Amino acid sequence: MASAAFGTVFTPHMARRSWTRPTSEGTDGWGELRIEPYGPLLLDPATSVLHYAQEVFEGLKAYAHADGSVWTFRPEANAARLDASARRMAMPCLPEGAFTEAIEALVRVDRDAVPSEADSSLYLRPFMFASEPFLGVRPSDAVEFLVIASPVGSYFSGGVKPVSIWVESEYARAGRGGTGSAKCGGNYAASMLPQVLAAERGFDQVLYLDAENLEELGGMNVFVVMDDGSIHTPTLSGSILPGITRDSLLTLARARGIDVIERRIVLSELAECLAAGRVREMFACGTAAVVTPIGRLAGEGFDVVVGDGAPGALTMSLREELTDIQYGRRPDPRGWLHRLV
Ligand SMILES: *Cc1c(COP(=O)(O)O)cnc(C)c1O
Repeated sequence: MASAAFGTVFTPHMARRSWTRPTSEGTDGWGELRIEPYGPLLLDPATSVLHYAQEVFEGLKAYAHADGSVWTFRPEANAARLDASARRMAMPCLPEGAFTEAIEALVRVDRDAVPSEADSSLYLRPFMFASEPFLGVRPSDAVEFLVIASPVGSYFSGGVKPVSIWVESEYARAGRGGTGSAKCGGNYAASMLPQVLAAERGFDQVLYLDAENLEELGGMNVFVVMDDGSIHTPTLSGSILPGITRDSLLTLARARGIDVIERRIVLSELAECLAAGRVREMFACGTAAVVTPIGRLAGEGFDVVVGDGAPGALTMSLREELTDIQYGRRPDPRGWLHRLV
């Protein structure tokens, strides 16, 4: 299963919990957690999510350790982010602890589907959508929360390869006051066309701007390593998704004594630094691909190789430190791991 393309094979079960807007005080509207066979959902064509995209999701992984135990990474951060995304989309928050409880129940029943090959994991996709059949424009009175799981192999079969990035100056991913910091499907819908156009130009991924400032990729945060060894990443501006990988890497880098700077990164300044050879490395990060080296950056009027075009040393050592913690190969002093089985 781990050799299948990302997100195409699923485990035999799914976790599910339904919500209806409470009509009396003292209830939160959430039903019991159910574990059901994985399978299609039957939806009325008027189901609200199909029309107005009231939907949020999460992504995290379960990792098999050498002793047979199974762990996940910072699930309380994903739970908090799902709540924040849900709030932005006028959807209900889950009851306290319900997020992790659903993941635990699903991974326990589908324990045998957690792959144990090197760099493989069980990708967990919690999501919540407006399920009321209703075409009026208002928050749905019914919501479904589900968790599905997909065994995934190493994102990079045949070794980590640097990606090429097109800096997008026409299309934006998010705007001020918009939904950029919520993990919602609509942000991804808006990123499909720029991604297709970038692929036609021969690039792997798109980097979005807020006017002239760097923001992030379609589904990953971005970092720059300067020639003085300092690490820079755009400040969470409100339109950037607060990545848990981003936060974890900032913490690991600071613990190494590296100068870590969250700031506005102006594209013209970055392009000048790249041209002057002052940028040593760039990388993107997110749960699915962990840490991905950026080998080439181009946009209107510039096209430069980052560093020597090969994966950077700091990029790869941060990647190794993070994955070593996740797979139980080195100590976890911050208690980031949570045992599932
Ligand atoms: C999920 C996501 C990320 C990465 O977040 P992680 O918690 O590190 O997986 C970055 N950007 C966007 C737009 C995302 O949706």
